[in-house]
Amino acid sequence: MKCPAIFSTESERLLALSNHGLDDESLVPSLDPVVHIAARMFNMPVAAVNMIGSDHVFFAASVGVGEVDMRRDVSFCAHAINQSDVMVVPDATLDERFHDNPLVTGSANLRFYAGVPLLSPDGLALGALCVIDNKPHLDFSEEDQLRLRELAKIVSDRLELRRIEVVSNRTRPDFEEYAGHSTTPVVWFDENRRITSWNRAAAQSHGYTLEEGIGKSVEILIPERDHPIFRETIARAIASGSLDRLAIPSEVCGLRKDGTEFLLGFSLFGWKDAGHMRFEAVLKDITAQRLEEVELRYQANIDPLTGLANRASFYRNVEDTLTAPEPAAVLMIDLDGFKDVNDTLGHIVGDGILKEVSIRLAKLVDAIGVVARIGGDEFAILLPSMADTDLAMQMAEAVIDNIAQPIVIDGQEVRVAASCGVALAPLQAQEALELVSNADLALFKAKSLGRGRVFLFVMALRMEAVARRLYALELHRAVDEGEFILFYQPQVNLATGEITGAEALIRWHHPERGLLTPIAFLPALERGTLAATVGSWVLDEACAQAAYWRRNGAPSLRIGVNLFGAQFRVGDLVAEVMQTLDRHGLPPEALELEITENIALDNDDGVLKTLRRLRDHGVGIAFDDFGTGYASFSLLKTYPLTRIKIDQSFVHGMLEHEQDASVIRSTLDMARSFNLEAIAEGIETENQRIHLQQKKCSEGQGYLFGKPMAATQFSSLLGINEILWAVG
Ligand code: C2E
Ligand code: MG
Ligand code: MG
Repeated sequence: MKCPAIFSTESERLLALSNHGLDDESLVPSLDPVVHIAARMFNMPVAAVNMIGSDHVFFAASVGVGEVDMRRDVSFCAHAINQSDVMVVPDATLDERFHDNPLVTGSANLRFYAGVPLLSPDGLALGALCVIDNKPHLDFSEEDQLRLRELAKIVSDRLELRRIEVVSNRTRPDFEEYAGHSTTPVVWFDENRRITSWNRAAAQSHGYTLEEGIGKSVEILIPERDHPIFRETIARAIASGSLDRLAIPSEVCGLRKDGTEFLLGFSLFGWKDAGHMRFEAVLKDITAQRLEEVELRYQANIDPLTGLANRASFYRNVEDTLTAPEPAAVLMIDLDGFKDVNDTLGHIVGDGILKEVSIRLAKLVDAIGVVARIGGDEFAILLPSMADTDLAMQMAEAVIDNIAQPIVIDGQEVRVAASCGVALAPLQAQEALELVSNADLALFKAKSLGRGRVFLFVMALRMEAVARRLYALELHRAVDEGEFILFYQPQVNLATGEITGAEALIRWHHPERGLLTPIAFLPALERGTLAATVGSWVLDEACAQAAYWRRNGAPSLRIGVNLFGAQFRVGDLVAEVMQTLDRHGLPPEALELEITENIALDNDDGVLKTLRRLRDHGVGIAFDDFGTGYASFSLLKTYPLTRIKIDQSFVHGMLEHEQDASVIRSTLDMARSFNLEAIAEGIETENQRIHLQQKKCSEGQGYLFGKPMAATQFSSLLGINEILWAVG
């Protein structure tokens, strides 16, 4: 752990803290709203203004802070004040300065930190405004940093106000000495309400020159309608010799010389001098600040793209409704395939769709509920006092229908579908978090049923969620215990029937549930962290098997290996593939890697570069399930492919449906014009084979030629001797 550096100006810094009245660990109530805004704006559990004392730190204002170690040595803010700008620690466990810090390893469990130093007017760092979470945040953007800086400016202003109050309370030095050059407007006046001194800042904010004010009534600074109450206050103070028990507003209406009015921050102090009361008003034009606060408050609650409530504000609304307590329904909505639309039609159209969907939802829900955008293409609706399941479901259906109507953007008609999950309180949940997460599970279910579906939460979904989590644990065991095996499906020349290749297809030998096909576990595997590891195993195992077959009677057999998206994101796939081929003595053309459109679109640039390098080395690249996505055709131009795999859905339908037949025709034409090989998947009947052969599709794969099978069976199919296999 690194300890924070100590400034050479440390003694001046501590003096400055003391001049702000902050040497005694006192709270500064005027900072409370700022930390609340900060916590909300960044959706963090903790926000604080942390002042750095000589060996301890303390909070001038905070929200969400529990028991915590306040030693300066361990404080993140003590580091932040050494920076000139925002200090962001996305994940403290990965940061060499903090990974073994007790705040990180101990019960405080600090993972994320962002803090801005707070400087006194003469540049001494007093402390920091910070936001903290016990989850890492890798996405704290430049814009977030800008907003945090803006909030820090407000904090600094308020601290300066505090300094002036403190200094003037302690002693009554010469006006010039302590306020003459301050940028905070200060006015001194006497019992007759005559201005005895004021500084340039005060004069300017009211539109006067410095010389103009002296001797005039201080009442010129406020509108006439407020004079009586002001006089009354001063008279009472004179009578009692103090302002102590008088209610003095902290904001008043200010008046400029030109008659315009503005919002004026106002603090009034009084003291006795030679038997007479003297008064000091510390003023501040807070119009801009108030606007800024309103704007920041707005930003903290509103999604900037659509103007709808954001995630944090949605949660608060649900919480407020349930604690009222009031019944409520929550609808979670997710656009189907939005990523594809965004990738193919561009972000401008994507944003246009999100805006239009927002308008439609807001119109539909009108004043009866709250509509929020809570993620990229995720929306949520809160319907307070909705206790009727049927009505809530009707609303959900209406939402789906509304979104499904064509959207016209820049003359282009786009259609998007949406799925919706519904949950009700108090029927299915008592607490906000539970209600939202139940609606989320219902949404997950709706999506798994296909596009444009609505699903009402049922308790079984919670059980399924728990089972999914257990499944994730089981996958770890499967990797450790080697429970995965590969099956192989033959790929044949449609004219001669000769076996040209084998596609490796993964299976899970589950100890209790038997042999599982990919549909049962690939989604969980891809969501988790093991996909790249399993992918490497598949590659190695398939290459080893292919090398064996090529050495023992099938010298030109090609091996097809399906890739996971994660394999492009972890490690160097090109090096791994080349080393694997080398290890098993396979030439690059013996391997054909299969990618799907999802992989291609996932992180196009990185994927594209990797595939180009693999292709340059001579490795084959097949585009799997061709024709099922939005972007299949446009990807043909950019991706370095060697083969198109026509999706089985078209093959199944081609003899009955002209549409499927025409997709196959045009795909084959296109393959020819791009000089690519084509293979049809899912051939189950002789009729399909004949038809495809007539259409000049050279290769095929499907149950007609063989289901995916264990390696030993595939050996027999190739006519490779079992005994040889055993010694091989
Ligand atoms: P895919 O790559 O499109 O594989 C073809 C799928 O179609 C296989 O399903 C195969 O059993 C099935 N199939 C083949 N011929 C026929 C037929 O005539 N009729 C019918 N109805 N189906 C046929 P499987 O083995 O269940 O694999 C499903 C998907 O899982 C694969 O689709 C592939 O995307 C993925 N997958 C399988 N193994 C792996 C792997 O090792 N790595 C990765 N990343 N994905 C894999
Ligand atoms: Mg495949
Ligand atoms: Mg396929």
